[in-house]
Amino acid sequence: MNPDTHFEPVIGLEVHAQLLTASKAFCSCSTEFGSEPNSNVCPVCLGMPGTLPVLNVNLVEFILRMGLATECNITTRSVFARKNYFYPDLPKGYQISQFELPICTGGRVNIILDDGNTKSIGLTRIHMEEDAGKSIHDVDVDTLVDVNRCGVPLIEIVSEPDLRSPREAYLFLTKIKQLVTYLGICDGNMEEGSLRCDANVSVRKKGETKFGTKTEVKNMNSFRYVERALEYEINRQIQLIIDGGTVRQETLLWDANLGVALAMRSKEEAHDYRYFPDPDLVPVLVDEKWIQRVRSGLPELPTPRRDRFVSSLGLPPYDADVLTAEKEIADYFEAALADLAKRTGKETRDLAKQVSNWVMTDVLRVISEKKLTMDAFPITPSRLAGMIRLIMDGTISGTIAKELFEQMLTLDDDPAEIVRSRGLVQVSDTGILEKAVDEILSASPEQVAKYLGGNEKVFGFLVGEAMKKLKGKGNPRVINDLLRSKLTALRQP
Ligand SMILES: [Zn+2]
Repeated sequence: MNPDTHFEPVIGLEVHAQLLTASKAFCSCSTEFGSEPNSNVCPVCLGMPGTLPVLNVNLVEFILRMGLATECNITTRSVFARKNYFYPDLPKGYQISQFELPICTGGRVNIILDDGNTKSIGLTRIHMEEDAGKSIHDVDVDTLVDVNRCGVPLIEIVSEPDLRSPREAYLFLTKIKQLVTYLGICDGNMEEGSLRCDANVSVRKKGETKFGTKTEVKNMNSFRYVERALEYEINRQIQLIIDGGTVRQETLLWDANLGVALAMRSKEEAHDYRYFPDPDLVPVLVDEKWIQRVRSGLPELPTPRRDRFVSSLGLPPYDADVLTAEKEIADYFEAALADLAKRTGKETRDLAKQVSNWVMTDVLRVISEKKLTMDAFPITPSRLAGMIRLIMDGTISGTIAKELFEQMLTLDDDPAEIVRSRGLVQVSDTGILEKAVDEILSASPEQVAKYLGGNEKVFGFLVGEAMKKLKGKGNPRVINDLLRSKLTALRQP
């Protein structure tokens, strides 16, 4: 029996996104990543008696952006609550969070499935909270504690249990990353912990409407681990049920090295945290004016941008998907396109595919090979446009452009200047090209005979030889024309 056909998984995700505010949620300490341990702290975030937290208004601004972008209802009066638990990296003994009255409820996120269909994933809520510190177990014989992260603002995005496969969970998480980065509220870096994901997983027989007992899987700190950890946990639960066992409600930690999820503790219920409204913080009041202001300031979101790339720039949907996957890539593409339109006086629609080809192949290849971020990429949009312009006006061939592109990665000069100084200009002079073509024809009697005998493929070989002789600088169109007419002449003596 193949268990997959009899069971279906039910998955809900809880995603924590660390916000890009300069200071912490309730004090003015810096949120900078990688500072000297325990240097970004003050009496407030250390939870000293007698101190009072003051809400950072940017935390509310940022969560409103996310809430509006995901069609949530905005709670006009939301309340902070204390989530009580003891841990060495939590000096206050509680975390400030939201419980009964979160600021955003009932939104949705659309994911595009592999078959091209769109699936809407419900959001239960998005709420504000502060981060805890970090225990470091592997540096010294003792455990060390760094509380720099205490009080760093987070939003927690809780999905409905609408996801039905690890792949859907992966797509959901990718979409969340895309949204928070487009909105400029989180850098989306899962490896540095800016985006963290826990999953609630259960399985049930297909056709069943009741949910099975769920477990919580934590510590999946990369996108790939989320998929792998969920696959592991789903198979474990299915096997357990087939073998006559029952799933226990518990929290599991994903161990990426072992490829297993290990039981950490029996799962807490909300009442274990003794939530109660934080008496030190007033309720957060958001009026319609504030909502309108944030709504009108929202940037163009990934889906509308993708649709615009298809409808007004005429790009194939595949190109539009790749280019809008990350905001930085889409921005780069549009900047290069606008620059090229200005240089050539042509419509962006007529230039889009050409720019897209360069961005999707060469630019993204270098970005991924060298693990660069878009703003560290050495070829600015304007220089890329300058290079494409040189191809369009016939100064360089496509072959030379590939070489020029490589040179532009290390040289800061204007592409036209590199072409001049490195002698990359395309040879279109018919006299020079004709001489090369004649030499190739007389040096390759066998191939010429084959071509005249009807073997068309040899033509490509002859073009290649002529190109080689001209060190790749010959104008391929002119070479083609010359070869074609000379071979035709040979055919009719
Ligand atoms: Zn502080």
